[in-house]
Amino acid sequence: MTKVGIWVLGDQLHLQQSALASCQAQRAGTPVLMVESRSYSPQRHFHRQKLILVWSAMRHFAADLERDGWPVTYTRTEDLRAAVEAWLDREGITELQLMRPADRGLEALLEHLGDRCRVTVLPNNHFLWQPEEFAAWARGYRQLRLESFYREGRRRWQVLMAGEHPVGDRWNFDQENRKPPRSGLQGPVPRRFEPDAITRQVIADVQALDTDLYGEAEPFHWAVTRVEALQALADFIAIRLAGFGPYQDAMVTGEPTLWHSLIAPYLNLGLLDPREVIAAVEQAWARGDCDLPSAEGFIRQVLGWREYTYGLYHLFGPDYISTNHFGHRRPLPDFFWSGATDLNCLGQCFSQLKQSGYAHHIQRLMVLGNFALIAGLDPQAVVHWFHATFIDAHDWVMQTNVLGMTLFADGGRLASKPYAASASYINRMSTYCRGCRYDPKQRTGDGACPFNSLYWDFLIRHRPSLENQGRMALIYRQLDRFSGAEQQALQDRARSWLADHCPE
Ligand code: SF4
Repeated sequence: MTKVGIWVLGDQLHLQQSALASCQAQRAGTPVLMVESRSYSPQRHFHRQKLILVWSAMRHFAADLERDGWPVTYTRTEDLRAAVEAWLDREGITELQLMRPADRGLEALLEHLGDRCRVTVLPNNHFLWQPEEFAAWARGYRQLRLESFYREGRRRWQVLMAGEHPVGDRWNFDQENRKPPRSGLQGPVPRRFEPDAITRQVIADVQALDTDLYGEAEPFHWAVTRVEALQALADFIAIRLAGFGPYQDAMVTGEPTLWHSLIAPYLNLGLLDPREVIAAVEQAWARGDCDLPSAEGFIRQVLGWREYTYGLYHLFGPDYISTNHFGHRRPLPDFFWSGATDLNCLGQCFSQLKQSGYAHHIQRLMVLGNFALIAGLDPQAVVHWFHATFIDAHDWVMQTNVLGMTLFADGGRLASKPYAASASYINRMSTYCRGCRYDPKQRTGDGACPFNSLYWDFLIRHRPSLENQGRMALIYRQLDRFSGAEQQALQDRARSWLADHCPE
C-alpha cells in the first residue's frame, strides 16, 4: 500500500504550494517533513538576517500546518540526507512528494532518495512559468531579451492589456521612471514587524552558531508569516507604489528603501504568490491609486524580470555558474566584507546591507555590480558575495542576475551590452558623490573618482570583444576623442588604484 509523505522546503511556505495542495483532502494521514539544515560549506555564506528570516518563517509555517491538521516533523540537523532518510523510515513512506525545488542544489539527494522510495516532483507554482514552458518560448528566439519575454507574459496572462494591445498603447514607461533624486528626497517609512517569541528564539539560535556569517542579526524587522507578508504588500500598495515608478532608479544617502516594495524575500519564500501581487498592483492602478508608469514598472519586475531570471537559470543549466567571458580573475577585495572603503557610494551600500541584507536593484547593478565589473573582479567570487549578503538571495536569483545582467560574464546571453558606467551615472542618479572624498568629474589625479579610470580602462582592455556589441560603438567613439596620452593616464591611474585597493 502506498504511504505518501511530503517534504516542504524552506522556500515553499504556502498552504497552496503544489505538493500540499495535491494531498489537502488526506492531510490528517499525510506526514510532512520540514528540515532546518545547518550543513554549511566554506563556499556558501549567509547573512544573519537571511537565516533568521528563513528559519523563523519555516517555524511559523510548521505551526500553521499543524493548526491546519497536518502531522509535521520539524528537524534541525547538520546532516540533511540522514534526517530525510530517518523520517522516511520512521513514517514508512513509500512515495515522497515535493514541489520542484527552485534551485538545483537538491538534485543529487533526490536521485539518491529515488533508490529508497518513489519520488514525485510536482510543478513549482510559486512561478507563473514552468522551466519547460520557458524553454519552449526560448526556442523561438535567437536573442533571449527580457522585453520579448515580458510582452509574452502580459499577453498570456492578460495583465495591463486591452485585448491584444497594452493599456496606454505602450509596453514600457522606463523614460518616465528614471528621475534623478531631487534635493531632500525622502521616501515613506516602510512598515516594520517586531520579532515575536519564535523569531526571538531564532535570533538567539543564529547568534549562537559557530560559523562564519555576514551582517547584523538585529534590529530584525522583516515579515516572517504570510499574514505579515500580506500586510507588507498592502503597505507598499497604499503608501509607496505611487512613488515607485519615478524614483525606482534613485539612490539617496540615508534612504535605503525610498519607494521600493521590499517584498522580494516574501515572494522567494512562498509567503506571497506572484499572481496576487500582480493582481493587487493592477487593481490599484484600475482604482486610480497610482499612475500607469508606476504600475507597469513594478509589474515588469514581477511578471517580467523575476520569471525571466528563473527561466534562464534552468535553461542555462549547471555549467552557467562557471562562466567568465572577460577572463576576470582579480580576487574580491576585503572591503566588500568589512565595508571599510572611502568610496562613499560603495560604503553606503555596504552599510545598509550589513544592517538589513537589503539594497535595491540600481544599487546592486550600477554601484556594487558596476564596480565589480570594471575592476575586473572574479565573477564567481562576486556571485558568492551577492549570495552571502542579500536577504533575497537564492541561486536562481543571483546566477543570472549577477553573472548575466551585472557582470556580462556570459558574453551577452541575456544583456545586450555590459552595464558599465563611470561616476557620471552615479553622480546623476544619487546623492552619494556629495559626501565623498573623490571628485566624480575628475578622471585622473589623486582626488579623481576611481569609477572613471576603471570604466575607461575596462573599455580599453576589452575593446576587441566590445566595440561591435550593440550600442557600444557610440561609447568607443567617445573614447577615441581622448588623446593617446590621456588614455595612458587613465590606464595608469586604474592600475595603481587597483594595486593599492584590490591587490591580486
Ligand atoms: Fe562613488 Fe565616485 Fe561618487 Fe565617490 S565620487 S560616491 S566613489 S561615484
